[in-house]
Amino acid sequence: MTLETLRSKMEKLKLTYTAERIVELVERSVKEEEGPVEVLERVIGLEVDKREESRIATSLRLSGLPGGMQLDTFDFAFQPSVEKARIDLLATCSFIRRKENVLFLGPPGVGKTHLAVGLGNRAIELGYSVTYTTVEELIQALKKRQEIPVSKHRRQRYMKNALVIVDELGYQCLDRRETHLFFQFIAARYVKGSIILTSNRSVRDWVHIFAEDEMATTAILDRILHRVHIFAIDGRSYRLKDLEELLTGGKP
Ligand code: ADP
Ligand code: MG
Repeated sequence: MTLETLRSKMEKLKLTYTAERIVELVERSVKEEEGPVEVLERVIGLEVDKREESRIATSLRLSGLPGGMQLDTFDFAFQPSVEKARIDLLATCSFIRRKENVLFLGPPGVGKTHLAVGLGNRAIELGYSVTYTTVEELIQALKKRQEIPVSKHRRQRYMKNALVIVDELGYQCLDRRETHLFFQFIAARYVKGSIILTSNRSVRDWVHIFAEDEMATTAILDRILHRVHIFAIDGRSYRLKDLEELLTGGKP
């Protein structure tokens, strides 16, 4: 069999990455006097790695996750109110398998988005479908289809994905109609899929976000808090860290 026939058969099997490099791969195995098992392992290993890389790149693009926020770049020493062991546990993503929620609460700049996005990246690595949205974008998306009940928005990514990150609850107050749509969203995902929610306002104040509607607020909280991992972060703002250091001349 010539290398050309081998290449075309590999293409039929959709081993596209290694098919393109077959000459180079064969030359190398001859040069390094590799045995058949080593050759197969390298060729198949390369194809598997490349597929995995491209799966992750595609999922990341579809997720809408902002870049540059990974769990391993989070400085836990700076934010001692976040217990690393609890984040490590969430990083196994068993909370997604169990359809549990995560709530990050705290003032601006303490790392709520960073942790949520870091967990989102991790979930994609482990093969879960993830969507990142702000509350504002979510409400807009829900309004676009408001003539259909949210539970029927099955093909939308905020409904079908295993993990939905809803960032920045509390920066904007919702009116009654928006509150109702948000409730429908929470109710539709309840026990069906995980939500990571971040908010700069404490749960006690949420009624002010939700149009002073006590009943809707209770109904929303009831479902979110049923199976939840809560992080109340009360440290300093990382955004202001450099400024603080500048003002104090580096002294804490
Ligand atoms: P929040 O969402 O709580 O307002 P962010 O997560 O957006 O805060 O954090 C603000 C900026 O500071 C981001 O660029 C984030 O990556 C960074 N940041 C926050 N906390 C930490 C931390 N403990 N270690 C490293 N970077 C951090
Ligand atoms: Mg944020």
